[in-house]
Amino acid sequence: MSVENTLSIIKPDAVKRDLTGKIIAMFEENQLRIVAQKKIWLSKAQAGSFYAVHKDRPFFDELCEFMSSGPIVVQVLRGTNAIEKNREIMGATNPEQAEAGTIRKEFALSMTENSAHGSDSPETAREEISFFFSGLEIIQF
Ligand code: ADP
Ligand code: MG
Repeated sequence: MSVENTLSIIKPDAVKRDLTGKIIAMFEENQLRIVAQKKIWLSKAQAGSFYAVHKDRPFFDELCEFMSSGPIVVQVLRGTNAIEKNREIMGATNPEQAEAGTIRKEFALSMTENSAHGSDSPETAREEISFFFSGLEIIQF
């Protein structure tokens, strides 16, 4: 168990429905502290660059359309086991398979419009955090 940083995104479907505060509360109630945060609106090309790992998947175009359909909140969460804990709080990718009380079970509209993103390993957390934030923008304590 170590203190980690992870990248979290509140996706356009959730920002649009004013669920930002409710989702942030779920992180804070589970000992994940926000150490960097901003609201931005990605272009489709920028969304494609963030999700480049999925570029050959059949859902890639739909995913990039969706992720550039409105503002998102990008944030760095810090806490013990933050990477895994964030994914537990989000729930399964498919909201129908997500556990009760998770972000995706409570709020997701579909497999694509599933309200939240979270890094899935220490390596992707490092890459994804530096995609959106410079070191200066991250609280270091
Ligand atoms: P996760 O976000 O849980 O890490 P993935 O990395 O596999 O899931 O996929 C990235 C995102 O792409 C998902 O969160 C979801 O928005 C979308 N997605 C994944 N699989 C599908 C699918 N089969 N159909 C439609 N959209 C999908
Ligand atoms: Mg993923």
